[in-house]
Amino acid sequence: MEVSTREVNELGRKSPLAGLVTSVSTLPFSGPRRIASLSVHTSPLDQPGTGDAGGLNVYVVEVAKRLAERGTEVEIFTRAVCRDTPPLAELVPGVLVRSVVAGPFEELDKTDLPAQVCQFTLEVLRAEAAAEPGRYDLVHAHYWLSGKVGAAAKERWGVPLVQSMHTLGLVKNAALAVGETAEPQERIRGELDVIAAADRLIANTAEEARQLTDLYGADPAKVQTVNPGADLSVFQPGTAQSKRDARARFGLAQDAVVLLFVGRVQPLKGPDVALKAAAKLIEASPELRSTLRVVLVGGPSGRLQRADPDGMRELAARLGISENVRFEPPCPQAELAQWYRAATMVLTPSHSESFGLVALEAQACGTPVVAARVGGLRTVVSDGYSGVLVDGHDPADWARVVRRLIKAPRQLQALSKGARRHASAFGWSATVDRLAKVYTGAMDEADVSRAARVRALVADGAEQLRRRRPQRRPRRPGAELRAPAPGRVPGPP
Ligand code: UDP
Repeated sequence: MEVSTREVNELGRKSPLAGLVTSVSTLPFSGPRRIASLSVHTSPLDQPGTGDAGGLNVYVVEVAKRLAERGTEVEIFTRAVCRDTPPLAELVPGVLVRSVVAGPFEELDKTDLPAQVCQFTLEVLRAEAAAEPGRYDLVHAHYWLSGKVGAAAKERWGVPLVQSMHTLGLVKNAALAVGETAEPQERIRGELDVIAAADRLIANTAEEARQLTDLYGADPAKVQTVNPGADLSVFQPGTAQSKRDARARFGLAQDAVVLLFVGRVQPLKGPDVALKAAAKLIEASPELRSTLRVVLVGGPSGRLQRADPDGMRELAARLGISENVRFEPPCPQAELAQWYRAATMVLTPSHSESFGLVALEAQACGTPVVAARVGGLRTVVSDGYSGVLVDGHDPADWARVVRRLIKAPRQLQALSKGARRHASAFGWSATVDRLAKVYTGAMDEADVSRAARVRALVADGAEQLRRRRPQRRPRRPGAELRAPAPGRVPGPP
């Protein structure tokens, strides 16, 4: 994800940016004019693939950019982690990033973030209060922590809350990798609150939609499935020549068998499975020792450092495959596309995955994916058509599948074709088309319930007036002739 930003002044009614922003919002568009997008725990300005920055960041940025192109301005609220982070930055015209001060200027562990939610909420409300009334038509919150902020903003501003959970604590806890800590009860309780407060819940897949209703008791009428996407202009299939060029660029032999792992290097993503499977492969086919390369692109993530690149280096050494393994720091998506093209196949042995953008992007580049049969990967990878889904995480099973594919170049070619076709249905434009409908639906419903509330208030007011109105006393003969006592005005009975 390549983003360039420029710092802008704090938005005031007469800010130079106000003109720019307004000019976007005057485009004819039936959806929201401006939305507040909340991303408490990770900034859209961060490089994905390390720390807490990953698919969620990509999602927030890609959706915001496309909404802005359609005339909906987006202001993304995130927590400032550096003293010199500008409070307001323009990502692209129509998309602002507001970095609010809540807690120390440093990356905080997710377990320490709930303590900052209150301050974050205050800052979001303060930013809105400083602008003209009715600044946002809708709040879209990402991850449960942002949902807590969104629930307060929704109440205060009288606008609908659209919530994307991205991952669910109960689902993660049901598929913990060895050595991983369970998500705390505080998160589960928070998720329940947010799910109850949201007007619409965006599920990445039909399976997530079911999890929201079955595990969290979400109202099915509120849940809408919207698949995320890939930037199909960046992740494009390469020609045979561009594959050769990519390999030459990265210093990979043209005849190498390249197994690629991309993303945050943490236990949940199963990088150890990729390494152990590679060791088993070499054990079963010793001729692969000279040609097999396992490349891990990504940085450390999570509190447990057991599966970070250093831990994986140690594991590779223990497995006796150090020479075959290469570690690369996270890189922008344009470079990532070249890694995907250079690879023979991409491995995604995740223990839990709400969608799996890496698997989608790889396929968009025409690279088959061998993925764990879990969560969103079951949607992202079409088993036997665009890649192979593997049950469980036993390295022996993974080695068997990979070996079979290496030995069947024709099948790999067919999968590559299927991968391109399968991924072509998942562009971000399709995501935003669906999201725009969800936004409009939520706003229409809010309008209807607001109108109903107004009608109820009017009816209630009329009733009260009626009750206060002086009621005519039954006439007594001659009463109309009697004048009121001096100084006394007839009042209600
Ligand atoms: N990514 C990146 N550079 C890297 C590694 C990853 O830009 O070096 C991006 C990648 O393109 C993908 C996202 O990070 O869009 C990871 O998303 P995914 O859904 O696979 O995993 P998550 O991080 O959400 O668990």
